[in-house]
Amino acid sequence: MSKILVTGGTGFIGSHTVAELIEAGHTVVIIDNLSNSEEHVLKGIEQITGKRPIFYKADCANANDLSRIFGEHPDIEAVIHFAAFKAVKESIDKPLGYYQNNLLSIITLLQVMQKTKVNRLVFSSSCTIYGEKAPLPLSETLPMTPTTSPYGRTKQMCEEIIADYVAANNQFYSISLRYFNPIGAHPSGKIGELPLGTPNNLIPYITQTAAGVREELKVFGNDYQTPDGTALRDYIDVVDLSKAHVKAVDRLVNGNSSTQLEAYNLGAGKGISVKEIIETFEKVNAVKIKWSFAPRRQGDLPSIFADASKAKRELNWEAKTVLGESLRNAWHWEQKYRKLNK
Ligand code: UDP
Repeated sequence: MSKILVTGGTGFIGSHTVAELIEAGHTVVIIDNLSNSEEHVLKGIEQITGKRPIFYKADCANANDLSRIFGEHPDIEAVIHFAAFKAVKESIDKPLGYYQNNLLSIITLLQVMQKTKVNRLVFSSSCTIYGEKAPLPLSETLPMTPTTSPYGRTKQMCEEIIADYVAANNQFYSISLRYFNPIGAHPSGKIGELPLGTPNNLIPYITQTAAGVREELKVFGNDYQTPDGTALRDYIDVVDLSKAHVKAVDRLVNGNSSTQLEAYNLGAGKGISVKEIIETFEKVNAVKIKWSFAPRRQGDLPSIFADASKAKRELNWEAKTVLGESLRNAWHWEQKYRKLNK
């Protein structure tokens, strides 16, 4: 069992991954600056696993803090790097903040890893790196093409920075995990998605509308070339996604990677429309969502879904949770968080 450093470990995917790592027997050290998460997440992780992860409130772009933390844990074997800004629309409005945060973090992290000779990295990437023109289903063999947002470009650049570092250090092994649309929450209801402020993503907007926190869901676009006119996405359960990180870390730590640099798509392999999401949510949870159509959102593509066969072949990972269960867990979490189901 290994000691794993998780940056962004109190965030949505980070917290679920920390829980899975602990359940698998690993020791976890979290670094998070709490810019988009809250410290009470640690309590949720402790309630699920019976163990509280070691936590540092620190910024990955701060070399002094990172060096100190690596110094206090000389037995760190691998890093999972989640810490990043992640909202497409926000990145269009605030590009410099996105480049500064996302690029400085990975560069600083790699420099400190180099200094401390920690040579295993799992990087939190995104299907957005394939860009606008890529043919569906998206496969890892496709090259990156121009993407629609600064957020997407930071993910492309991070992958390129990692590739250049791998080329310069033959001891360094890295796996990029390219997420499609992560949804759901831990079935215990102890951790889940907790966007600060108005949610950008579909599922938290839906759960907050159902909870009465938001007035009405706007469905962005009804004129896409899709069966019902609304956009298709590949929704993947967050617990399934987290398990892929444990498999990736194990592969790196156990020396099972055949190449120094790998990338895996993590999706369910199916395109689901926004309308299907709303209908399924209403059905499995027996609640009604108030919604109406609005114009297309800037930067959105009509349809995105994965070829996830490489992860199945090489990581022995595949999506298991059905959509209805993820949407039930998301609503369960929202209700618990809002204390609606006393
Ligand atoms: N969406 C929507 N209303 C919202 C938020 C999202 O109609 O309030 C749509 C969005 O246009 C996209 C899908 O839901 O087609 C998933 O969007 P999300 O922001 O969750 O993820 P993205 O695919 O943009 O990364």
